[in-house]
Amino acid sequence: MLVAGPCAIQSRKQAFRIARKVKECGGTIFRGGAYKGQNRPIVNGLPAYWGMGDEAVYILADIQQQVQIPCVTEVQSIRQAVVAIDAKLAYLQVGARHMQNFPLLRYLGEHANVPIILKRGLGNTVDEWTGCAEHLGGASRVILCERGISSFDRTQQTRWRLDFVGAAYIKEYTDYPVIMDPSHGSGDRRLVLPLSKAALQMSDGLMVEVHYAPERSKTDAAQTINFKAFEEIAKVYHDGKRKTPHKKRNRDTV
Ligand code: PEP
Ligand code: MN
Repeated sequence: MLVAGPCAIQSRKQAFRIARKVKECGGTIFRGGAYKGQNRPIVNGLPAYWGMGDEAVYILADIQQQVQIPCVTEVQSIRQAVVAIDAKLAYLQVGARHMQNFPLLRYLGEHANVPIILKRGLGNTVDEWTGCAEHLGGASRVILCERGISSFDRTQQTRWRLDFVGAAYIKEYTDYPVIMDPSHGSGDRRLVLPLSKAALQMSDGLMVEVHYAPERSKTDAAQTINFKAFEEIAKVYHDGKRKTPHKKRNRDTV
């Protein structure tokens, strides 16, 4: 899987332009945040950006039809899930901060008929993560996404630590597909290419944030890559796919 798109959908025009690029480069899923979570209500003296809401979900539904690429967005509540299910988005995403939103997980487990990308909580163990995936219906419908965890090292440019050991464990010892998100997993766009290369060695794909003008992103600008960088990542992804795909080791022989 190569999931790519802006952190947040900011307009119809912006979303379509990025979606067309993702499709052209061979991205397999277009992502775009409709409902943004925010750590604080006020950022640098201004109200935080909460996303376009339902309108962005309808834009994604139109992108599925017109650009012919499956779309995903994060839902944080049952109400948002109802909107996204109704709009027939091909995938749903549960974000890191909602990994243990059990009423949401149980609702999706019962009512969503599409695959769900479940991001790992910032401070959650692999065991807690797979436990949450079970609420969603288990390995047949969940794709786990490692997006970086908290660590003692709060280096300013790199907010999180992409947990390769956690992802490797999932890959080798469980039936879950696992993708990695080097955008949120680092917080720094300069690290996205090298981390993507490493991630593709041992996972089932990537999620990256991309924008034609990353600095115009209202959220996560510092980690958002431009089109040129995305082309490079897409090339690495497709070149790698032509080689032997990563196989699980036979667990009985380890
Ligand atoms: C996202 O992918 O849009 C997002 C908010 O990421 P996370 O839940 O990993 O912070
Ligand atoms: Mn983001």
